[in-house]
Amino acid sequence: MRALRFHGPGRLALEEVAEPAAGNGEAIVAVTACGVCGSDLHFLDGTARTGYVPITLGHEVAGTIRHPGVSGLAVGTAVVVVVGTHCGSCRRCAEGRFNLCERMAVIGIDRDGGLADAVAVPGSALVPIPASLAPGDAATAVDAGATAYHAVTRTARLVAGETALVIGVGGLGGFAVQIARNQGAAMVVAADVDAAALERAAALGADETVLIEPEVSVGRRVKLLTDGGVDVAFEFVGKAATVDAAIKSLRPGGRAIAVGVGVEPLVTLPPVLWSNSEYQLRGSYGSLPGDTEAILAALAAGSLLAPPSCTVPLQEATAVILDLSHGRRTSGGSRLMVTP
Ligand SMILES: [Zn+2]
Ligand SMILES: [Zn+2]
Repeated sequence: MRALRFHGPGRLALEEVAEPAAGNGEAIVAVTACGVCGSDLHFLDGTARTGYVPITLGHEVAGTIRHPGVSGLAVGTAVVVVVGTHCGSCRRCAEGRFNLCERMAVIGIDRDGGLADAVAVPGSALVPIPASLAPGDAATAVDAGATAYHAVTRTARLVAGETALVIGVGGLGGFAVQIARNQGAAMVVAADVDAAALERAAALGADETVLIEPEVSVGRRVKLLTDGGVDVAFEFVGKAATVDAAIKSLRPGGRAIAVGVGVEPLVTLPPVLWSNSEYQLRGSYGSLPGDTEAILAALAAGSLLAPPSCTVPLQEATAVILDLSHGRRTSGGSRLMVTP
């Protein structure tokens, strides 16, 4: 079968590999759609690492069951694959914080992923797709949707009446705007470098938008728009400047949630302003069991809209993904979906 193999920064190739074999309890999924995520681009530009190389990338997988493993589901069932598998026995798992499992294995990062004709996954990682949902839309639930859901509802614990800023309104940020809306946010501000992404964020329910430009202070703009700053600021970019902007957009007592992955050291406010204003900065990572199901149900019910996607066949995906990682093309707020 064919698989998109990552060999190290800048090196990606479509190769012929052996069909995956199901290990103990594992399932085999014939891939129908696999999303390309910002973190895949970070592997390619060298700012993040996979567990080993070469490896098949792809952690936003939708497909049909070819071999059910321990899932108990029928052959042919349409499913998505939960991104991370936890051990169930480490200290964080015992606390129910499965997303922080000390032995977490992420598909497409720590084991072969779904940018291929088929993939072997733990049977416990399969979640059936509601019949009304297209595979490409369902695939956005496992990472973009569930990660945003975790950040807004569990890490930030955003409640009705609070104001929110979402910096970076691609796949994850677009979900975050909608989830904040659905939680009853009094006002949602979206900020991005991409005007098209901001237009889409407005259509999804953002009340105000801020185009990030070199001379623009996002914090000052947000404080003007919100009469003193937001209660919660989400950062989905992973750059030092945007984490700084998130913090500088807060009202005293506000909390900034860092979700984007990046490697730049932070430079931000001096300690006196942290203590005077009781600002908080928290990271948010992945999602918990149940988050993917919640997003799938909301997508099927129409209370969440999946990001627009552009689809490219596996045969042509290598060049498109490398162009994205080099910044030679932008996704304009839409998700790249690869279909075998
Ligand atoms: Zn991802
Ligand atoms: Zn664990």
